[in-house]
Amino acid sequence: MNQPILNEAGVAAQVAAIFESFGLQRNVLAAGSFAVRSPINGDEIARIAEHSSDDVKQAIDQAQAAFLQWRNIPAPQRGELVRLLGEELRAHKNELGRLVSIEAGKVPSEGLGEVQEMIDICDFAVGLSRQLYGLTIATERSEHRMMETWHPLGVVGIISAFNFPVAVWCWNSALALICGNATLWKPSEKTPLTALATQALFDRALTRFRAGGGNAPDGLAAVLVGGRDIGETMVDSPLVPLISATGSTAMGRAVGPRVAARFGRSLLELGGNNAAIVCPSADLDLTLRGVAFAAMGTAGQRCTTLRRLFVYTSVYDQLVPRLKAAYASVTIGNPLEGGNLVGPLIDERAFANMQKALQGAAAAGGKISGGERVMSAGGEAAFYARPALVEMPAQTGPVLDETFAPILYVIPYSDLDEAIALQNGVPQGLSSSIFTNDMREAEIFVSSRGSDCGIANVNIGPSGAEIGGAFGGEKETGGGRESGSDSWRAYMRRATNTINYGRTLPLAQGVKFDI
Ligand code: NAD
Repeated sequence: MNQPILNEAGVAAQVAAIFESFGLQRNVLAAGSFAVRSPINGDEIARIAEHSSDDVKQAIDQAQAAFLQWRNIPAPQRGELVRLLGEELRAHKNELGRLVSIEAGKVPSEGLGEVQEMIDICDFAVGLSRQLYGLTIATERSEHRMMETWHPLGVVGIISAFNFPVAVWCWNSALALICGNATLWKPSEKTPLTALATQALFDRALTRFRAGGGNAPDGLAAVLVGGRDIGETMVDSPLVPLISATGSTAMGRAVGPRVAARFGRSLLELGGNNAAIVCPSADLDLTLRGVAFAAMGTAGQRCTTLRRLFVYTSVYDQLVPRLKAAYASVTIGNPLEGGNLVGPLIDERAFANMQKALQGAAAAGGKISGGERVMSAGGEAAFYARPALVEMPAQTGPVLDETFAPILYVIPYSDLDEAIALQNGVPQGLSSSIFTNDMREAEIFVSSRGSDCGIANVNIGPSGAEIGGAFGGEKETGGGRESGSDSWRAYMRRATNTINYGRTLPLAQGVKFDI
């Protein structure tokens, strides 16, 4: 009993093989004292070298020098580098996806899905590299033209979280690079191996770009391994005009004001406390599947994970028992073994936070199903938990917080306006859904008096966004938008240009200044 499913050598050997297939030396995995563990069995899988604060400063200088060259390369040529990155990701999708599973604990389809997201954003960015356009604007002055142009910002600092260890880098970098910026990446301290592997793929793309005649400077995109102090050095540097930071609201609360204090820009993608409303007309089969994936997928460790469910009283007794049955039967275990749908929590602290939230919910009158540790899945040093469904009498206590674990709070409602008010009545504002076949309810939910979140869906859960849309949320989620739509503008600065092609000098607003 309680035997680890994979011994240390098993996971570590797989990591080493993947590194070698990316052209990295095996000894990178034993080059320092920064310990990396797999949540699959809690074992240490590498001890890698950590960057120092001086390394970070040097990397910033090098990235700044790279930016000064890269901004002069035409954007469609910059797109070619990102196209090659996409090719490398396609060629190494299985290996990188597996590494995501090993380091972040995702089940295979989610590990692969994360890499697919990287490929998709590369494709998107390549197309965008020919579309970085500004407006031509009517001017009130004759023989004048007014337009706006978009220019790169400089060095973009990317801080990422453990739960999307590589996709978040790619969302940011693919766009930042085609926009003419250099990037510096500080990955989560819990997932540096996937970052090193991704950097190796970028370096391969860079080599091929140069071999094809492309002109790309050294230091264009670099990864910096270490703790939050690495992030803090980037945050405080005036040579990093944009900090794109993904992580907890606590992190954003520290980073945002520090960047603002030096008048830098920040793009914050922070915690969510996402809800869904199940209306009386909802297709309950579809709702069941949508809720199950959104609430239990990735072991509740997505920023868009469904955490609060408001169910109309007349369908409550039809839906909730079925949901409880799904929670009781969902397969939990080693994500590398086929068939498991729920993998491990990232570490012991995540499990402790889950238990603390459940205790708080019980104290507030919640009736809990599930939530217990599943010892048979990974052994003493791994933390697997059965997802918890908690029937709450009201939206109080831990329901108002994001606990980064699979807990779904279920609350009955009897009036749509009341349900929308509850859905909006938390500090976070990332993602939301309504399950309904009533056109009026659906339209109200996506209207200005409906969901206050950055993402509002109908008849799909709140989790699992596509790259074509802008991604991000309001309130304590930070307000940033990444990925699709016009998010590229966050990585550029706008200049308004007025050009006089006449021989007179009319002033705006009819002002006279004749000398
Ligand atoms: P975290 O906040 O602990 O860490 C995120 C990153 O920020 C890490 O790289 C960390 O080293 C760095 N960091 C922390 N404090 C810092 C500071 N003061 N200065 C500079 N860097 C600092 O988050 P986590 O546990 O890795 O990830 C889970 C959290 O991330 C959840 O809250 C989740 O909702 C959120 N998340 C949000 C999105 C989104 O797009 N909105 C996406 C993924 C994860």
